[in-house]
Amino acid sequence: MNPRTSVVIVGGGIAGLAAAWELSGASRGPTTSTPRIELVEASSHCGGALRRAQFAGRTVDLGPDGFLARRPEALTLAHELGLDDELVPISASGASIWLKGTLEELPTGLALGVPTSAKSLRTLKGLTWSSRWPAWRDEHAPRKMEVTDDVSIGAILRRKLGSELTYQLIEPMVGGIQAGRVDELSAQAVFPALFAAAQRGGSLMKSLRADAGSGASAGVNAQRILGPLFMTLRSGVASLAEELVRQLQERGVVVRCDAAVSAIRPTPSSVYPWEVDTDDTATGASAIILATPAPTAGRLTSALDGELSDLASVNSAGAAMVTFAFAATDTTLPPTGTGILIPLATAWNDDIMMTTAVTFLDRKWEHLRREGEVLLRAHVGRIDDRRCEALSDEALVERVRDELATVLGRVGAPLAARVQRWPQGLPQYYVGHTQLVARARRALAPYAIRLAGSSYDGVGIPASIGSGRHAASEVLALLDAASTP
Ligand SMILES: Cc1cc2nc3c(=O)[nH]c(=O)nc-3n(C[C@H](O)[C@H](O)[C@H](O)COP(=O)(O)OP(=O)(O)OC[C@H]3O[C@@H](n4cnc5c(N)ncnc54)[C@H](O)[C@@H]3O)c2cc1C
Repeated sequence: MNPRTSVVIVGGGIAGLAAAWELSGASRGPTTSTPRIELVEASSHCGGALRRAQFAGRTVDLGPDGFLARRPEALTLAHELGLDDELVPISASGASIWLKGTLEELPTGLALGVPTSAKSLRTLKGLTWSSRWPAWRDEHAPRKMEVTDDVSIGAILRRKLGSELTYQLIEPMVGGIQAGRVDELSAQAVFPALFAAAQRGGSLMKSLRADAGSGASAGVNAQRILGPLFMTLRSGVASLAEELVRQLQERGVVVRCDAAVSAIRPTPSSVYPWEVDTDDTATGASAIILATPAPTAGRLTSALDGELSDLASVNSAGAAMVTFAFAATDTTLPPTGTGILIPLATAWNDDIMMTTAVTFLDRKWEHLRREGEVLLRAHVGRIDDRRCEALSDEALVERVRDELATVLGRVGAPLAARVQRWPQGLPQYYVGHTQLVARARRALAPYAIRLAGSSYDGVGIPASIGSGRHAASEVLALLDAASTP
């Protein structure tokens, strides 16, 4: 490879950082053929939503607080960075749901929130009797559904399991992870197992149950066989991004913050075929990785091919996270579980609840426990609920505390509270997303420009890391091919 090759990565979230790690040789480290690497980040820090702060005497994540450990990408990266000793498994399981004014334990054997047997719903008193009938029907005389092209998650669930189960039981989990609505989210892109089960026909629940096999539905057994479902890092998930930046800089990767890329242009007559511009710099590049949200990537590349302007349609939901420390004597939590789900449109006083989920941080993560205290986090906001944006931090803390008092029975005055707002960050994969991304990638294929990040290959830390590393491998292969006589 020509030693003068230069790769610019636009966007310093975990996908962009992971791309830089792969380009710079990953665990092997740089060699003489490693290109010059420059990572350009618009905000004042790298890591995107991976941020941490001191709160009530602990280091607490302000964005993601853990990651799926049954996918390898985040664990592998932590291992390569030498962070094995920092990894901590989740130390609780199960959750509750707020149904018709009562907290109920979620049944076991759910596949990403979808029940896999009608029997498992028996214990849920907050569901009407008529809501159980479609589940019974799905097991014994499943409704037909022709699924060829992509369809919304909600369309499958409503047809097979009825509206009440869809909106009251399943949407809080499936939609909650994306801060989106099941009626808009793509089954193919967001919940491929559900899409495949619907395509197979027959009973949706039996099909999902068969998929889970001895895995998710086996509960404790699965934990023993497959390892913990979620993990974090003792110093916060954000420490993964911080350590990555440190080691990248040590390797000579140029990391620039407070530098928004405003344009990328072909410069065929120059040494480098591309130029990446910020307000005050122009960097030559042999190849570019765009690890920004899709609309930014669309804006930067739409002049190359009209197809790329469709990337602007990848909407993103925002969220606010309100973290509380309460005195244990002032707060009653359900006896078990990592948190609570709250269905959308749950009535509260004369309004609708803003809180969509509550995470018991110090139940999930043992290292956050302190004698006599409870540490929890409320999640607020959805793609179609931006009410929190109109409230000051103080007003939001008060509102959420009052909602928690309803759900938990009682909570005292917080010992500490902190609001973290994420105005964007949860891309919405609408129906047709997979095809939209494929078209964009096809349009970029003739150019040495690749897309990476949570707008394309899955939301979540492992998927974003995988996406960044894959884009980097493709770029290395392109550069290698270009330098081969
Ligand atoms: C509130 C919240 C909670 C979450 N919880 C979890 C969780 O518990 N577990 C989990 O696995 N995942 C979680 N996620 C999802 C996970 O955080 C994301 O999927 C992942 O961090 C996305 O990384 P990314 O690099 O693809 O995108 P981003 O982090 O969005 O990075 C994109 C970067 O591009 C930069 N940028 C944009 N425009 C430009 C430009 N013109 N020039 C230069 N830079 C630019 C942005 O500033 C940003 O830093 C959560 C997300 C949010 C928002």
